[in-house]
Amino acid sequence: MGVIVQKYGGTSVGTLERIEAVAERVKRTKAEGHDVVVVVSAMSGETNRLIGMAKELDLDASRREMDVLVSTGEQVTIALLAIALQKIGVDAVSMTGDQMRMKTDSSHSKARILDVETKNLDQHLAAGKVVVVAGFQGRDEFNNITTLGRGGSDTSAVAVAAALKADECQIYTDVDGVYTTDPRMVPQARRLDTITFEEMLEMASLGAKVLQIRSVEFAGKYSVPLRVLSSFKEGSGTLISYEEVNMESPVVSGIAFNRDEARLTICGVPDEPAMAARVLSPIGDAGIDIDMIVQNTLGDGKADFTFTVHRDDYRRATDLLNQVATEVGAQKVQGDEHIAKVSIVGVGMWNHPGVAKTMFEVLGHENINMHQISTSEIKVSVLIDEKYLELAVRSLHTAFGLDAEPEAGK
Ligand code: ADP
Ligand code: ASP
Ligand code: MG
Repeated sequence: MGVIVQKYGGTSVGTLERIEAVAERVKRTKAEGHDVVVVVSAMSGETNRLIGMAKELDLDASRREMDVLVSTGEQVTIALLAIALQKIGVDAVSMTGDQMRMKTDSSHSKARILDVETKNLDQHLAAGKVVVVAGFQGRDEFNNITTLGRGGSDTSAVAVAAALKADECQIYTDVDGVYTTDPRMVPQARRLDTITFEEMLEMASLGAKVLQIRSVEFAGKYSVPLRVLSSFKEGSGTLISYEEVNMESPVVSGIAFNRDEARLTICGVPDEPAMAARVLSPIGDAGIDIDMIVQNTLGDGKADFTFTVHRDDYRRATDLLNQVATEVGAQKVQGDEHIAKVSIVGVGMWNHPGVAKTMFEVLGHENINMHQISTSEIKVSVLIDEKYLELAVRSLHTAFGLDAEPEAGK
């Protein structure tokens, strides 16, 4: 039998009892005859605790040192899990990202994986060991420790699975699969047995943090069989499928949301060629990701630009935009820090032109104002005030027929 890669997230390794439960599950998988590589996250809350300490010292701490700091969370878990495995008679060895040579570029805190060396892993597997690998971390060509962005252990797991040509990459978490929307917000959400790769990509990029977006991209690139399951209960979870989309696919398969957005507008910019680049480049150059850009030309030689950024970047983006406004002679800069994005996603949408209209009607019926709209073949996203987010997600979930049937007797 081939290799299985299992990834356990923060809650799944959040206590020593949980780590022992993970060890038992790994032991069972090994006993079934598979070679097993386990990728783990830091214990839940640990990455935030580490970031919090650094921020107390310096809000603008060096990104290199931040990576040295936060990567320690995963190092604790690999050792504890290896100890728990050895205790129950499983030959296990732990490896940091550096030890297993997870090569990345140098963009600290959001590094991209360039290469995974399998020599060390192969040797241990050939010797019958379970290898416990630290997720979220790698090292660049200058031997600096790097990290892959929040939720990055998912991507470590998929990268290892791709490099080893694993039979399956199993992402164990605190929910038993991918749901029609976050089950913590909508209790009527339904678990999906399968979700198409395209839909998972959209769901992840639009805020469903159950899988880090880059892990889905990576899985697609190398056709890694990918499954999301619960580490708390048995079940077959959700398989990410690479099958062709069939005509009976539901129009809307899921609803994603992101509550951490902020919106900025620069008003009255001279309407000249290359102005968009001039206005937006300083923000991109500062490493701030820009989303949902709209340019409005007003017909009086002036234009407005509106875009969204992550809320954590709002202050910095506002300062940069104010500088740009002075340089280009814009009229003013406006912003709103409490914006959320809601998106409906479905591969069946492309041949159902009325879907966006239904979405707008549902939101209108609830008196929810939309600030911005963006569409693609398989998704429609709107920006709304954060305070209406739950109402919007729940109403859309019901309107598109996604609510689970109430269980008999309830
Ligand atoms: P881990 O620590 O295991 O990596 P995460 O917290 O990163 O776990 O991801 C799991 C969480 O993702 C769930 O607890 C759930 O609240 C959230 N989530 C958001 N959208 C969805 C969705 N569509 N299906 C399942 N979970 C979702
Ligand atoms: N520990 C990291 C985080 O909290 C990586 C991960 O859990 O995937 O973001
Ligand atoms: Mg995660």
